[in-house]
Amino acid sequence: MFSSIPTISRDQFVARLSKRKYEDLDLVAMIERYVSKKRGFVFRMPRPGSRVVLMASGGIDSTVAWYILMKEFGLHVYPFMVTNDNHHAQVSSLSFFSKMYRKKFVDLYHAPLVVPEVTAAREIFDMKKSSELTPRAILDSYDPQHKTFNWRPGAGSVMLEAGQAALYMGSLRSRLPHAFTTIFCGVTAMDGMGVKSQTLTFLRTSLLYMMTFLADPTLQYASLYIEKETGWFARKADIIRIGVEAMLPLERTFSCYRSGSVHCGRCGGCDTRRWEFKQAGVVDKTIYETEGWIRSRGKVFSQRLTGLLSGR
Ligand SMILES: [Zn+2]
Repeated sequence: MFSSIPTISRDQFVARLSKRKYEDLDLVAMIERYVSKKRGFVFRMPRPGSRVVLMASGGIDSTVAWYILMKEFGLHVYPFMVTNDNHHAQVSSLSFFSKMYRKKFVDLYHAPLVVPEVTAAREIFDMKKSSELTPRAILDSYDPQHKTFNWRPGAGSVMLEAGQAALYMGSLRSRLPHAFTTIFCGVTAMDGMGVKSQTLTFLRTSLLYMMTFLADPTLQYASLYIEKETGWFARKADIIRIGVEAMLPLERTFSCYRSGSVHCGRCGGCDTRRWEFKQAGVVDKTIYETEGWIRSRGKVFSQRLTGLLSGR
């Protein structure tokens, strides 16, 4: 048995959200009232043996979420991944854990579906990259806490991914006898502090969007790491601890924003990853390009040796 997802009380939950810049508690309350009226509750964990869709990315959070959903909750998980510029590294992480989970969870494992990113209008993303984007405009959009620029393409397509996940669930429903009701994602408790599309407010808005999109009042959409109804409140360090306890080779996951085969070690994704490993008090076996040839090759060698010795 391994540690469960950390939880906090409802009062603590609301108190934390109320201090956040991008949360809108009025909107959350309004959507929750509507959802409760339709089905009598906002979110309930599906019973063991139920089928659920998981939005996967090849990163730490969704990889560990996939494990927890099968191991702790006994759910049939159908991962769904929308790839972006990091296609190769994301897919190789997903296939690595796919092979591992297929052996470990014979009954609950289902092969992931990987689809390329679709944007409503490529021109809008191209516009963001054009020379008309002045240095001043870039600086103004900088978020120092998360070392990221808010104009960065990609983050805005989350809304489309939610629609694609709902479509995927709809298609699975038509060919499998047992109804799907729930789509999970791996947004962490801290993600919404810097990214507008990863707040609880946005998760609730997406829930409403998906419910109306499929005209289905039973549809659930929630993150395993931040959910008011269950009190789940887990940051990446908590998730890393769970992953290490479950003996998952987290170094095989991919968090980098750039499109390389190893982590660049410079971007916001890499910074957060390194910082959270430190917070978790766990050795970070990730290979970062910035560490130089000898150190990174030494790491690869010791990882391969450990892998060989443990039979992976
Ligand atoms: Zn990076």
